[in-house]
Amino acid sequence: MGQIQRVGIIGGGQLAWMMADGAAQLGLDLVVQTPHATDPAVAIAPEPVLAPVADATATAVLADRCDVISFENEFINLAALAPLAAAGVSFRPSLPAIAPLLDKYSQRQCLEAAGLPNPRFVALFPDTPLPEAESHARALGFPLVMKTQRLGYDGQGTFILPTWEACQQTWDQIQRVPVLLEEFIPFEKELAIMVARAGSGQVVTYPTVETQQVDQVCRRVVAPAAVSAEIQAQVATLATTLVTALDYVGVLGMELFLAPGGRLLVNEVAPRTHNSGHYTLDACVTSQFEQQLRAVSDRPLGSSAMTCDRAVMVNLLGFETTDQDYAEVRSHLAALPHTHVHWYGKTARPGRKLGHVTICLPQAEDDGEAQVAAAIQAIETLWYPPL
Ligand code: ADP
Repeated sequence: MGQIQRVGIIGGGQLAWMMADGAAQLGLDLVVQTPHATDPAVAIAPEPVLAPVADATATAVLADRCDVISFENEFINLAALAPLAAAGVSFRPSLPAIAPLLDKYSQRQCLEAAGLPNPRFVALFPDTPLPEAESHARALGFPLVMKTQRLGYDGQGTFILPTWEACQQTWDQIQRVPVLLEEFIPFEKELAIMVARAGSGQVVTYPTVETQQVDQVCRRVVAPAAVSAEIQAQVATLATTLVTALDYVGVLGMELFLAPGGRLLVNEVAPRTHNSGHYTLDACVTSQFEQQLRAVSDRPLGSSAMTCDRAVMVNLLGFETTDQDYAEVRSHLAALPHTHVHWYGKTARPGRKLGHVTICLPQAEDDGEAQVAAAIQAIETLWYPPL
């Protein structure tokens, strides 16, 4: 294969949209496969294959137009893509590398096989007898966490349940689809890391960050996390171990719990660029989006070093249904010092990720906690309506 020039991306949401600068930097052309001409990435990749992401016939068209295909989200149909891979289409990461990560149960098994620490877990299937489900649940203890095995995101499909009765009721409500039951981790912090691996085996890790969720949805990211150098290094080792074990090529996000006593447990893994890495656009030498393109197009990986002391990223989540573009609020946000506003151009709906803001913080005289809190508050008071 000659030098990779055209990269196909399955998915055309904001994650593909944010690849624009990286693609320009590297002189690459992007083609996206996405259902609607109004999807964010169509603005930066103007000749899309307009089709649902799981439509493998459309991916064959995409493959004809590209040197390599990568992924923006995990709502793909792996079985349908396999014949394309067998016919020589280059997917990066490869289908076998992402296969175990698409379902929360196989993901846990894969993490376990790679020697990474998981919360205790057990899978329930539609035919699992209730008494058996109950004894599994009771063995894990309450509260426990029930997660749909497939297609959960932004906390949808994740339920924290206080009793067996609540488990049974919730499982019935979701029609007893396959779920994972997990031990509830009383975490001190939630952490995340982005890692990139090249086809040569080179691995680059980004700083470990803290993610803060509200109603199980990521609201803020603080980079780097206020944790010891030892925890930073342990998280980087876990991420490196996983991408190496999978022979993974591309960027991957790993979310973890920091439990009492400095114990680390993996929450979940996303085989793609990730919300917890959005800060890299403005606060690192190489953004996660450029890094993904570097990895899949055989360009050398770039530096993951931060270009400021610390950064804070706040998601702008929708809180109402409206067509308005919040131009005035956005201009107030943009006027905050050291601030970058990214607006995805989507229709506002409650809970939808409409954009994000990153503040690159200058060096603080103390530990910087107050500065981080003030930056978060400045953004959130402008964006979120008072409770
Ligand atoms: P999604 O895939 O929808 O992002 P997650 O599995 O990441 O869902 O769960 C969303 C949030 O729910 C997590 O960020 C965390 O706050 C909480 N959570 C998930 N699993 C557990 C667990 N085992 N123990 C405690 N909290 C959990």
